[in-house]
Amino acid sequence: MSENGQSTNVIELPASLTVRELADSIDSSPIEVIKVLMGNGVMANINQQIDFDTAAIVAAEMGYEANMLAPETPEAEEVGEIPFWRQLIADEDPEKLTPRPPVVTILGHVDHGKTTLLDAIRKTDVVGEEAGGITQHIGAYQVTHNDRLITFLDTPGHAAFTAMRSRGAQGADLVVLVVAADDGVMPQTREALDHARAAQVPIVVALNKIDRPNANPERTKQQLAEIGLVPDDWDGDTIVVPVSAKQEEGLDDLLEAILLVSDNMEILANPEGKVIGSVIEAERDRSRGVVATLLVQNGTLSVGDIIIAGNTYGKLRAMFDYHGNRFEAAGPSAPVSVMGLNQVPTAGDLFMVTDSEKQARSFVQKRKESAKEKGTAMTGLTLENMFDRIQAGEVRELRLIVKADVQGSLEPIVSSLEEMSEGGAGVNVLRAETGNIGENDVLLASASSAVILGFNVEADSAAQRLAETEDVSIRLYSIIYRLTEDVEKALKGMLEPEEKEVVLGKAEVRALFRIPRRGTIAGCYVLDGEIRRNALARVYRGDEVIHEGAMSSLKHFQDDVREVRQGFECGIGVKDFNDFEEGDLIESYTKELVPVE
Ligand code: GDP
Repeated sequence: MSENGQSTNVIELPASLTVRELADSIDSSPIEVIKVLMGNGVMANINQQIDFDTAAIVAAEMGYEANMLAPETPEAEEVGEIPFWRQLIADEDPEKLTPRPPVVTILGHVDHGKTTLLDAIRKTDVVGEEAGGITQHIGAYQVTHNDRLITFLDTPGHAAFTAMRSRGAQGADLVVLVVAADDGVMPQTREALDHARAAQVPIVVALNKIDRPNANPERTKQQLAEIGLVPDDWDGDTIVVPVSAKQEEGLDDLLEAILLVSDNMEILANPEGKVIGSVIEAERDRSRGVVATLLVQNGTLSVGDIIIAGNTYGKLRAMFDYHGNRFEAAGPSAPVSVMGLNQVPTAGDLFMVTDSEKQARSFVQKRKESAKEKGTAMTGLTLENMFDRIQAGEVRELRLIVKADVQGSLEPIVSSLEEMSEGGAGVNVLRAETGNIGENDVLLASASSAVILGFNVEADSAAQRLAETEDVSIRLYSIIYRLTEDVEKALKGMLEPEEKEVVLGKAEVRALFRIPRRGTIAGCYVLDGEIRRNALARVYRGDEVIHEGAMSSLKHFQDDVREVRQGFECGIGVKDFNDFEEGDLIESYTKELVPVE
C-alpha cells in the first residue's frame, strides 16, 4: 500500500540498472523515465546505470513500490588469503587440533553502541563476576554462554583492528558489526565491512537500539542487503540479531549466533603445540613495569616461559586474567595480562615462546638488524612490482581501492576490473566509492596491501602524507581505459614505472663543514629554482650522479628552513652521504602524483 492508501504494484530491482531496464520493469517508455529523472534533477541517457535508490524514487512516482533484489554473489570468501589463524597452525599435527573459543571484535559506526554492547555482554558473565574481584580493563575478556567460552577484544572500532592487521597479526576470528536501527548503515559501517572482508573474517550483525521509538529494523535490513549483507530471514547468509545493548535484550541470541558461525568455521588450535599469539595492548606501569595483554592463539602459555614479542623479550613473571586473578597457564583464545617483558611491545606484534633468554636476546637483535638492512621493513605493493610479487608467491591477487568522481564512472571501472584475471592472480576490489581519496582509504590499503586508484579525484593532503609514511601507492587517472589498461598490464607484468619527476632547482657546493655526529654539511649557493627541505636530493660531480636520497637538513644561516630560493646561500645535509666536494651540484627534485594523461 502506498502512503495515500492507493494500492501499488510491488517490483524487485537490482542494486543498479540502466534506464531502459527500469522502463521495462515498470511497463513504461525510457523517455517517460528520463522525464521523471530530470524532474528529480538527474540527467541520464537510456543506457546509463542508475542506482537502486534513484530507480525506487522513479518507480514510486509511477505507482510502483520497489524492493531490492539480493545480490547474486556474496563478495567475501571467494578470493583471497587463508584466514590468519589458519596460517598460525599450518605446521601443527592435524590430529592434535581441537576447537578453541572464537575471538570476536566489535566494529561499527560511531555512537551505534559498540561500547555499550561490550559492557552489556561483559555483564552476562555472572559466574566470572562472582568468582573474581573487580573487573579490570586489559583489552579483552571472556564470557561463557551455554558452557562455552567466547573471547571479546574490547577495544572497539576499526582503528584498532586495522592497526593490528597492518602489523601482520590478527586477533579476531569473527566480527560483530553493530548497526543502530534508528540510524541505519553509515559511512563507518561500510568501512568496517571493508576491513572485515579484506581480512576474510565473517560477520554477524547486531541490529542495535531496537528499543528506540524511531528504530526502523526493516529499513536497516534493506540497507544491509544493499551492501551485500543480506539478512538470513531474507534468505541471505548474514545473521542479523536485533538487540538493545542499553536494555540488555537479545544478548543471548547474539552469543548464540556467534557460536553458530564459529562452529561453521571450525576454529582450531593445538593446546600442546607451539605457543604463539598476538599482543593486544601494552603499557609501562609505574609500579609493575611493562604490562602486556597477550592473546594466545596456539599452544599454552605458562608463567616462567621466555617469550619474544615483536622487538621485546622477557621471562613471564606473572599472569592475570581480566578479573585480576593470578593464574599459571593460558590455553588457546585466552587473553592474559603478563609482566616480565623488557620493553613495551606494540599492539599487533606476534609473540612466541623460546628456549632461553639468551636465544630470545639474539633473536631480537637479529630481527632489528635485518629490519634496518631492509630500510622500511615492509615495502608496499605497487602496480609496477605486482607481477614480481605474484611470481614470488608473496601475493595471490591484486587488491584495489577504487575512488571515482561519480557513480556513473565507478560502475564500469569496477565491472571491467573484476573481469580481469591472469595466470591465477585476480583482482579484488576491496572498496569502490565516489569521493576524494582520504586517510581511511590509505589505512585500508596499508592494512590489506592494496593499491589505490583514483579516477577524476584527488588525494587530500593528509592522505598523501599517510600514503608516504605507510608506503601505499596511489595512482590518479582521468581516462577510464588508461586505468583498466594499467591494471591489465600489471597483472601481465608489463607495466613500466611511471613516476613523474619534477626538478625544483639546483645549488652549487662552495664550502664544506664537518659537524660532529651530524656529518658533512655542504655550504651552497642556489643557482636556479629552489631547494626544498622535504624534497629529494641528487648530487652531481660533473655529469656523474654520485648520490640520490633524502635531505637531512636545510639551513639558511642558523635557521632551519623549508626552502631556499635562487640567489641565496644555504647549508645542505643529505642523509647517509658525507663525501661532498667543492664544485658538486645538488639538484632538488620531487616525485609527484600526476594524473596519467
Ligand atoms: P560507540 O561509539 O559505538 O561505542 O557507542 P556507545 O556505546 O558509546 O553508545 C552511543 C550512545 O548510544 C550512548 O548514549 C548509549 O547510551 C546509546 N545506546 C547504545 N546502545 C543503545 C541501545 O540499545 N538503545 C538505546 N536507546 N541507546 C543505546
